[in-house]
Amino acid sequence: MSTTISVNGRDYRKPQRPTVVICMDGCEPAYLQAAVAAGVAPHIAALLAGQGSYFRAEGVMPSFTNPNNLSIVTGTPPAVHGICGNFLYDQATGQEVLMNDPKWLRAPSLLAAFSQAGTKVAIVTSKDKLRRLLGHGVKNGICFSAEHADKANLAEHGIENALEFFGMPLANVYSAELSEFVFAAGVKLVEAKRAELLYLSTTDYVQHKHAPGTPEANSFYAMLDRYLAALDKLGCIVALTADHGMNAKHDPLTGQPQVIYLQDLADELLGRTLEAGGARVILPITDPYVVHHGALGSFATIYVSDAKDRERLSRGIAATPGVMEVLGRSEAAERFELAADRIGDLVVVSEQSWTLGTSEHRHDLSGLTVPLRSHGGTTELGVPLLINKVCKAPHLRLRNFDAFFMALNQVDVAPTASITAKTVTHA
Ligand code: ZN
Ligand code: ZN
Repeated sequence: MSTTISVNGRDYRKPQRPTVVICMDGCEPAYLQAAVAAGVAPHIAALLAGQGSYFRAEGVMPSFTNPNNLSIVTGTPPAVHGICGNFLYDQATGQEVLMNDPKWLRAPSLLAAFSQAGTKVAIVTSKDKLRRLLGHGVKNGICFSAEHADKANLAEHGIENALEFFGMPLANVYSAELSEFVFAAGVKLVEAKRAELLYLSTTDYVQHKHAPGTPEANSFYAMLDRYLAALDKLGCIVALTADHGMNAKHDPLTGQPQVIYLQDLADELLGRTLEAGGARVILPITDPYVVHHGALGSFATIYVSDAKDRERLSRGIAATPGVMEVLGRSEAAERFELAADRIGDLVVVSEQSWTLGTSEHRHDLSGLTVPLRSHGGTTELGVPLLINKVCKAPHLRLRNFDAFFMALNQVDVAPTASITAKTVTHA
């Protein structure tokens, strides 16, 4: 029987022990460092001190949740798996739609491939929006969300009576407890020998509201630390990475969000609205859960078919303060490894402390009870890759979508002098 499985052009070893890959949503590396410095994360501190391996890795653009989660579970960039945002303008139907349906997926996940080869696979997500994409093709496995844990059933999710089984109450969708449920479920599934290969994906509710080192953030990472230690104690190989980082996107003096309303700007630059044949601005951050970020992120794409209009917009937007760059479709597809047919004619990325909106009146910012923190741009590509064993990196430019490869293939290999945990940690 083969001991490796080939998925999307890469070979993965079958798990020798329970192997857990965690996508810690919005985990800017500073959160880990601040929690360690505050003394609330002793297990992570030990890993950083040499018991494990810590690398700075890079996520994929746009630095949003869906594209990066799908990259992690397929081991590929969005150009291969096809999920280029949480939200898409479907040119075939002329509709703006959520990208939650597996019909948009262009590559199988390694979770699906392993499950089809007989490995016991479990996927636990905090929000239900990711469940169908992540669980697509998984056979005889477990796949459910903490958000709808009360509705989990054997036929669809591979588990029933989940609240009793995990001994946890149903958590609110906007809470730290939603993520804690994911970790508690992971530990319980390993203890009960229900899973050999696990993918745990949390929500960035806490990171959108609280900066690294704040009491709220530290208490969240203290919770993470306890579950990482529990998984380690159970003999698991654990690899933790993130879908994207997180940065303050507000005026430091007033606390007001810094927003460039691109649809309003495009209408002004072209002298006509979308309804009158103008440009269409799409924000791929859009999802059904916008309370904590008001659908404001640092990445937008624009559909504008006329070449002269495109040129005018490109110049006008690039000259706007807060805009980092404006790229054409093919340039953006190449640089950011995106599927060219799933993005607009222009791609706009804002600077670190700025966000991009559509029209001012379309954003409800009443849910922003604290100054805006968000993501989406190149300034949120830096993510941690933390493994609870000493291991070496297969190549220099590590990506978050190397997490399964690292956990399955690189652990138990003697570190080489070139890239060890220590040298990279202190680099
Ligand atoms: Zn996210
Ligand atoms: Zn977010």
